[in-house]
Amino acid sequence: MSGLIGKHVPVSADNPSILRLEDRCVDCGHCLAACAESIGPARRWLDGAPFSCINCGQCVAVCPEQALVVKPQIEQVKAAIRDPQKIVVFSTSPSVRVALGDAFGFPPGAFVEGEMVSALRALGADYVFDVTFSADLTILEEGTELLRRVLSGDGVLPQFTSCCPAWVKYVETFHPELIPHISTAKSPISMQGAAIKTYLAQKKGLDPRRIVSVAVAPCTAKKFEITRPEFDSAGRALGIPGLRDNDYVLTTREISQWMQEDGLALDRLFASDFDGPMGRGSGAGVIFGNTGGVMEAALRMAYSALTGEDPGGPLLRFEPVRGLSDFKHAEVTVADKTIRVAVVYGTEAAERYLPDLMQYHFVEVMTCPGGCISGAGQPIRNVTPVEDSLREARIASLYQADQEGGMKASLDNPEIQAVYRDFLTAPMGELSEQLLHTSYYKRDA
Ligand code: SF4
Repeated sequence: MSGLIGKHVPVSADNPSILRLEDRCVDCGHCLAACAESIGPARRWLDGAPFSCINCGQCVAVCPEQALVVKPQIEQVKAAIRDPQKIVVFSTSPSVRVALGDAFGFPPGAFVEGEMVSALRALGADYVFDVTFSADLTILEEGTELLRRVLSGDGVLPQFTSCCPAWVKYVETFHPELIPHISTAKSPISMQGAAIKTYLAQKKGLDPRRIVSVAVAPCTAKKFEITRPEFDSAGRALGIPGLRDNDYVLTTREISQWMQEDGLALDRLFASDFDGPMGRGSGAGVIFGNTGGVMEAALRMAYSALTGEDPGGPLLRFEPVRGLSDFKHAEVTVADKTIRVAVVYGTEAAERYLPDLMQYHFVEVMTCPGGCISGAGQPIRNVTPVEDSLREARIASLYQADQEGGMKASLDNPEIQAVYRDFLTAPMGELSEQLLHTSYYKRDA
């Protein structure tokens, strides 16, 4: 890193994810090292190319001076809570429940799902839903897309996952030739927002214009994702100009800071359940936060779709795609169809393995090391970078929740069965395409 000391990543004033506080920066170079060594854009910038931030925030996670911070949105959410005309809906990503406890002295990886739900209600949420519901929805949509590509014989392969907005932006900026390979399925939080303002509003008789959708995520890139101009699909479907699918993203760290300011101690809260009808996810949805989790969830779905039977045995604990290695791969044969899969994290690793990755059917790419469990919006424990033991504890905690839960596959989720029966009709059907899928475009570097 010595060549990087004296420099810092450039952060533009309109960056939706990251703020740089000039007076705190000591030009130690940690931010540049994180971006150049595991993420990628800074490496190109140091070689003379323009700088293009992909909003992953890993520079924030490693800054020892807190000169780089997550761009906050707490005040906007508090204002919505104070407004009696607004209905404020929080939806929590899988990884938040295994990291929020860090800020309150819980052991690494402590599973605090129920306490987290109570905390969000105490902060003023009208409803608290679970993004694991939309992780299941993502698997149905993305898995159906994969099977169509594989079974048609002429689909564009490999299919890359689309749930990491930093990876999607990386492809749009640096590898536009790969855009046809990215699944058109939106990320879970973007599916969740679109479903809240359409399906939930209809089911509960709410005016979608009154709903404020707040995603609670481990991720700084989600703050960028919700600003994508095309992520107003609920508004377009309902004929309400200006209605966004999601309104705000708060990171785990913002939630913990807000709780501390309000004197809410996590260990003094009783556990409570999510609200329905978007408050339940299968184990497949829960493991989305781990590197390899999306892939394992998709394989469970593919098995059910191709055989008509529940996945069992190895697919419920699919070791070849588990663990902290930055490249994993496997071959699975289901109903005489062999599917080759690979899992990578870090866009630098994706770049390094790219020629190999093109040989697979389905490739999961997450930007953060170990997946969303170590997103840059998670609590910081004053250790730079985040230790592997902490990542492993969070990963183990999500796998344990999957193991102990009743539903293993996305298709088993009764709330998912209901949303297709009562509203969407079918994966990749007309309404699903309208609300849950998107398109991508080449960006200037
Ligand atoms: Fe966000 Fe997860 Fe991607 Fe990290 S890996 S940028 S937390 S979606």
